[in-house]
Amino acid sequence: MKCIYCDEGTTKVVDTRESSDKIRRRRECKNCRRRFTTYETAEDLEITVTKREGESEQFSEEKIRNGVGRAAKKTSIDEDQIEEVVEAVKDEVRGKKQIKASEIGEVVKSELKKRDKVAYIRFASVYDSFEDVESFEEEVKELQNNN
Ligand SMILES: [Zn+2]
Repeated sequence: MKCIYCDEGTTKVVDTRESSDKIRRRRECKNCRRRFTTYETAEDLEITVTKREGESEQFSEEKIRNGVGRAAKKTSIDEDQIEEVVEAVKDEVRGKKQIKASEIGEVVKSELKKRDKVAYIRFASVYDSFEDVESFEEEVKELQNNN
């Protein structure tokens, strides 16, 4: 989420309080270090995620967090960074009624790619369920070329 003061950078959540109807989050800007509060109601994230096979499911923040956490295991990515990735996904879906699972996957991938290559490949390999070894290797090669 962008900072409301400097309109830049990423923010981290420093405190979360949940009540029955809304979630209050205290955020700190990583750029200017100022803090602000956001409120989120459950309806803000009532989004239908459509999958490739045509099935759909309710958007779940927890599911994203688990997936990212699994990819980040034993990498340089810490809990703060996992939250940043989750936040980036929520920024993408917020206000929408429907989103493709692949769009969420792309956000996660690009966020992981910026942070840790191993986590990125791990996530991408599960997410895209690479059809064959060749395309997986291509992906790895592409990463190496970018270094
Ligand atoms: Zn700021």
